[in-house]
Amino acid sequence: LVVTKDIGGQAARSGDIQNYTGYQFISGPELAEKFEEHMRKFNFNIRENEEVTKLVAKQNNFLVKTDKNSYWAKTVIVASGKKSRELGVSGEKEFKNKGLVYCATCDAPLFSEDDVAVIGGGNSALDATLQLMKIANYVYIINIADYLTGDEIMQKKIKKSKKVSILNNSQVIEILGDNFVNAIKIEKDKKEETLAVQGIFVEIGLIPNSNFAVGLNKTKSGEIKVNNKMKPIFPVYLLPEMLLMSLKNR
Ligand SMILES: Cc1cc2nc3c(=O)[nH]c(=O)nc-3n(C[C@H](O)[C@H](O)[C@H](O)COP(=O)(O)OP(=O)(O)OC[C@H]3O[C@@H](n4cnc5c(N)ncnc54)[C@H](O)[C@@H]3O)c2cc1C
Repeated sequence: LVVTKDIGGQAARSGDIQNYTGYQFISGPELAEKFEEHMRKFNFNIRENEEVTKLVAKQNNFLVKTDKNSYWAKTVIVASGKKSRELGVSGEKEFKNKGLVYCATCDAPLFSEDDVAVIGGGNSALDATLQLMKIANYVYIINIADYLTGDEIMQKKIKKSKKVSILNNSQVIEILGDNFVNAIKIEKDKKEETLAVQGIFVEIGLIPNSNFAVGLNKTKSGEIKVNNKMKPIFPVYLLPEMLLMSLKNR
């Protein structure tokens, strides 16, 4: 039984993937489609659009509660990955999906010829910028650190573009707008600035989807703890995104 909110997860929201063995280049949605095609060949019982709300160990079994059903299982594989971290600034809730978005692959085409801001400086922010460079009029990268941390290969392409400004040492203060985003207020080098933009792409990292795992030991940021033999504290087999920070590559 496979229970999932969607098929493809973050891969379906990625732009260009250049490190998947067997493909020199493949887009995220295309790779996700191939995963789905492969998985469906095995005739699993797939419960799509269903969210696990609680996972508890009970009487040598697991009770998996979802927003639609309850299931008992002898073994559970947790592969719930991560979701976007929010900015936590004024205007974010108000303008969510009204110009402020968290997925460039899904939403970049809506900002054709607009000026946009990408928040972040890592691989996700650079991936979003590369997609937006082809669509938007102008892209501001607003990066809290004093240099970009994303891959060199992406940095090189971005730094060559005349359509992108990289604003390091910059922090978002507020999202402004009317019915829709029309500006972003930032603090750069301790001075406030307002940039006129119609779109804001938040790419400041991910947090684990682990709220449903009741009673498991977790790190401060919510990753489920496993021991140094990669064995979890409870007998739940954990896939890479749910391991401790030191065991992950992203
Ligand atoms: C923009 C972007 C670009 C990337 N580019 C690359 C790249 O080029 N190369 C690379 O190697 N990696 C890349 N990554 C990272 C890669 O996509 C992830 O490492 C990978 O998708 C993790 O897979 P996962 O299955 O562990 O988790 P996820 O992809 O996060 O999937 C988790 C799944 O679980 C579901 N789920 C979560 N909670 C619940 C719940 N309570 N109930 C039911 N279902 C639930 C979700 O809906 C989702 O389908 C990128 C990521 C992003 C966001």
